[in-house]
Amino acid sequence: MSRLIDRLFGLSGSVCLVTGSSAGIGLALARGLASAGARVVINGRTAETVERAAEALRAEGLDATPSAFDVTDPAQIAAAVGRIEAEVGPIDVLVNNAGIQRRGPLEDYPEDTWRELMRANLDSVFFVSKAVARGMIARRRGRIINIGSVQSELARLNIAPYTASKGGVKMLTKGMATDWGRHGLRVNAIAPGYFKTELNKALVEDEKFSAWLTGRTPMGRWGDVEELVGAAIFLASDASSFVNGHIVYVDGGITACL
Ligand code: NDP
Repeated sequence: MSRLIDRLFGLSGSVCLVTGSSAGIGLALARGLASAGARVVINGRTAETVERAAEALRAEGLDATPSAFDVTDPAQIAAAVGRIEAEVGPIDVLVNNAGIQRRGPLEDYPEDTWRELMRANLDSVFFVSKAVARGMIARRRGRIINIGSVQSELARLNIAPYTASKGGVKMLTKGMATDWGRHGLRVNAIAPGYFKTELNKALVEDEKFSAWLTGRTPMGRWGDVEELVGAAIFLASDASSFVNGHIVYVDGGITACL
């Protein structure tokens, strides 16, 4: 039985690049994938925090390599993907997790903030996936997991640009799954509900919001970042060998009801 579980869910030796994994959800996903046997590549823009996160995982006996680069810059991406594939190995799994939040009323939302958000949340998924998929297509195997959001489906006051970006991530996931399925790639997304990370600091500190959220969520609480790991291991492993273009909502049921 355990051999069946290993065959389905094991990631032994797989090289997994998780963007934005120096903190928050990305770090939890990297730790989880590494615990399933993967060799994870830790990313973020700040070399020091990326190195610190990789070091923390290595101290836990996990296989982690730092790679600091900006996912909005195609030149940095190309150089980093080349380095990772030469030094760590061909990338088997890409998790497009890096993302930002910029809140504000839509009628006053600055154009440059709109572009900053779209670059970080949507352009980056296209840029990094394109750079990594070329090698995956040549090898006829690869798995890509994009991180969407409940905002891939639902809007909320003052975050219309974020909602547009995450709606875009959902449809780009389906487009990538459609274009690249015939090349042996599988592309899926995880859409998290509300998790206590730096990105949500303002919401975590807002008692009124927290009370609204826990009332609105069927499971009556915030999520814990570790609760995203099971979906990531499923989508990264052969357990999901015929799952392509799917969006897995990990949200305590918030998108299931009004
Ligand atoms: P955090 O702010 O806690 O972490 C974001 C990570 O991304 C950091 O490692 C950050 O490092 C990195 N990052 C940001 N911009 C870039 C960039 N341009 N290039 C490379 N790395 C970058 O965010 P979360 O963990 O909360 O969010 C992770 C993902 O999950 C995002 O896509 C977010 O939209 C999504 N999400 C989060 C939810 C939540 O409840 N927290 C809910 C739904 C979706 P650095 O700044 O040093 O570059």
